[in-house]
Amino acid sequence: MKTVTRSTCCYCGVGCGVLVEAEDGRITGIAGDPDHPANFGRLCTKGRSLPLTVQSMTGRVLHPEIRTARGAKREAADWTSALDLVAQRFAQVIEQHGPDAVAFYISGQLLTEDYYVFNKLAKGLVKTNNIDTNSRLCMSSAVTGYKKAFGADGPPTCYEDLELAQTVLFAGSNMAYAHPVLFRRLEEAKAANPDVRWIVVDPRRTDMAAMADLHLAIQPGTDVALFNGMLHHLIWEGLLDRAYIDAHTVGFDALKALVREYPPRVAADICGIEEHALMQAAEWFGASPAALSLYCMGLNQSSHGTDKNLALINLHLAARQLGKPGAGPFSLTGQPNAMGGREVGGMATMLAAHRDIGNAEHRAELEALWGVSGLSDRPGLPAVEMFEAVRNGKIKAVWIACTNPVHSMPDIARVREALARAEFVVVQEAFAQTDTVPYADVLLPAASWGEKSGTVTNSERRISRVQAAVDAPGEAKPDWWIVNEVARRIEARLSSMSTLFPFDSPQAVFDEHRALTVGRDLDIGGLSYATLEAQGPQQWPFAAGAAHGQARRYADGTFATGDGRARFHATPYLPVAESVDARYPFRLVTGRLRDQWHGMSRTGRVGALFAHAPEPALTMHRTDAARRGLKDGDLVTVASRRGALVLPLQVSDDVASGTVFAPMHWNGQFLNSGGINETTVPAVDPHSAQPELKHAAVRVQAADLPWRLVAARRGGDALALQAAVQPLLRERRYASVRIEPDADGNEMLIVSAADLRAPAEWLNRLHDALGLPHGEDLLEYRDARRGHEKRVAWRDNMIDGFMLAGGTNGAAALIDRLREAAPWSGPRHAVFVDGKRPPRDKVICNCKQVTQSQITAKIAEGADLAELKSTLGCGSVCGSCVPEIRRLYESVPAAAAH
Ligand code: SF4
Repeated sequence: MKTVTRSTCCYCGVGCGVLVEAEDGRITGIAGDPDHPANFGRLCTKGRSLPLTVQSMTGRVLHPEIRTARGAKREAADWTSALDLVAQRFAQVIEQHGPDAVAFYISGQLLTEDYYVFNKLAKGLVKTNNIDTNSRLCMSSAVTGYKKAFGADGPPTCYEDLELAQTVLFAGSNMAYAHPVLFRRLEEAKAANPDVRWIVVDPRRTDMAAMADLHLAIQPGTDVALFNGMLHHLIWEGLLDRAYIDAHTVGFDALKALVREYPPRVAADICGIEEHALMQAAEWFGASPAALSLYCMGLNQSSHGTDKNLALINLHLAARQLGKPGAGPFSLTGQPNAMGGREVGGMATMLAAHRDIGNAEHRAELEALWGVSGLSDRPGLPAVEMFEAVRNGKIKAVWIACTNPVHSMPDIARVREALARAEFVVVQEAFAQTDTVPYADVLLPAASWGEKSGTVTNSERRISRVQAAVDAPGEAKPDWWIVNEVARRIEARLSSMSTLFPFDSPQAVFDEHRALTVGRDLDIGGLSYATLEAQGPQQWPFAAGAAHGQARRYADGTFATGDGRARFHATPYLPVAESVDARYPFRLVTGRLRDQWHGMSRTGRVGALFAHAPEPALTMHRTDAARRGLKDGDLVTVASRRGALVLPLQVSDDVASGTVFAPMHWNGQFLNSGGINETTVPAVDPHSAQPELKHAAVRVQAADLPWRLVAARRGGDALALQAAVQPLLRERRYASVRIEPDADGNEMLIVSAADLRAPAEWLNRLHDALGLPHGEDLLEYRDARRGHEKRVAWRDNMIDGFMLAGGTNGAAALIDRLREAAPWSGPRHAVFVDGKRPPRDKVICNCKQVTQSQITAKIAEGADLAELKSTLGCGSVCGSCVPEIRRLYESVPAAAAH
């Protein structure tokens, strides 16, 4: 039977509504929900490909597993044994070492209900605040910024402001890639009103920066100097709202005294930009009828992230650019439910419903609501400190859910060490191949997107329902259920009672969460599942009796502080945690790609999502590359004081000389190393404890690895092949793996590797892992003198796979043959002399599979964007490729106006 279920996309904080199609227990399709106020029917490439991520059960965790002895392999177990063991080991540690000897590390991808039960278990039952989340790595500086300036967490803005803003300041946000559907809304607003001005603050010339009216390519980490310099200029030009400052704020005089030290020339010098550009940005911002700033990881993932947030908020308060349509400081949440986690207090530094751990009244309120006593007043350990405490033995048992810290934390060698030393590690996961799973003593199978129900809150404080479209596979269970079952067992053991976890559905959890918010700034006393289903997604606050949620906050100039006034903060510019020097002369910045999501445990399952960026790369300015004798495609070693990895080089003008860029996504599932966080710094912001994932000092050297390999296999289960190949990657100095679709819609696996040499035994293991045949279906060629080896696998007259080792000439032609899925004509041995082919054309439009050369040929003929859309179809479906297409006009000499 065919069904359509209304739900929400599980990737980014935009929170797009989706209609999920399913048939016979299998998700078959997806469409944007035209009635959802976040996306009005639009979806980006990632959202559109969600069904492809859940159709195969390969690589899913399908039943509980238990490791019975250290060093032993985990064995399949039943749920009762797994739940009993987790409860028993946690209770044992708590009884022997106290509540702070256990920790919970959870995720902004959990639903609010999942988060709530975890938080109640840690804080209400165990009485530890050692519960933190990967949202610490994402937006904790935005939280501290809002709380310090306005007295409460949460943005004062809403998505409607995207269409109403006259000036848009993008700061540390590559929104075209990270929040694509919101970016579509901005593109349309600018197309409708060309007077709207865009200012992009980004060290890189991204596609979005190329579209801006003003691009401020500041030196990484100098945002505070920029904002202080802009404020200095606003004061000088009289572009302040003095009446607003006097009536609704405190602290302006101290800030004014500080920004005297940041005249535009000085600030511009620190930032490495032109003074007039800084002044222009200040004037556009201050004089605008409505200035909106949109910011994300570029501000937050910094050892001074809170200051960066506050310095930007200072500008909004001084020029009264908030509390009115189209204006305000708008932090974009990276994850789908980072906001929901904040609401339930699912972090080490907060309590439920925006209450504070250090506030005795707040603790007493919560004790009364939960019917418990003795909530801990000791702040818990935030992410970086938490794993350090696991490493040094203070925390003995850790439960990790729905996140992959062995990829996403900075300086991951220390996280690996921590988990290897821990007495007991629980991993609750949907996907079996993540870098954290090998450390699990107990692996608990979690339901994934499309298989579970609850709610999420997006970047504009809007709560949406998430609904199951199909049953979870195997024995996988919803996250809230798993935690609830363990919590009941721990409660029975610690207190011989069973009262705190009566939940029998996500709705029961939501109703208790709702009750805790009544009277708080995020009051959702008027919301229920029934309201959300009848009236659609709603913003908070939504108190009992309200007809709808509140779109904007602080419109009357009354803030959530004790005296109702907002706070200015004097924020001096401080340099990045790790400066460059003669040994580590490059500034490494990290970021996202368009079609991948976080650690790729989900997007890495879809071959089509590799088409835009098949391999990881380190981007370097061409003059820096030339000076080192490096060229595009060379392998380089990127090393910091903490670790190193090998990556292919991408030469570009998009980064400044002295800066290099690497994407955050690749990890041990797809690479021989753990990814770029082998090199990043564990330094954290003193207020938010958010680590400086965005910046490290590195050196870059040619990796002299003359032995090369390219191998591929078409047909079969690409995900199963990838799982088989994954353990072999780490044995080579460079290795990466990717999935690609062929012309028949089947998927193939491609492996690249490099080293000084590789033993024949490794080649044979790779041969078997790829499922290449032996006997007459294998054609082999060996050149012992040169150390070259070629193997081509046949199925009838089709090439089914190959392995070129030692030298890789001819690999591109063989991959093309596999992609084409066409029969081979002529003698088989001629395959070894198949001609050279040009490098593969980059796929720009994923929806319509349109390549760069097709687009540039049309542009050269004079086609404008509308014509490209109508003739090639590119940019006509999800629109994620439009910024890149616009950029191609810069590179084509005969480009028409567009
Ligand atoms: Fe999902 Fe894309 Fe919407 Fe983000 S913008 S919620 S990834 S469809």
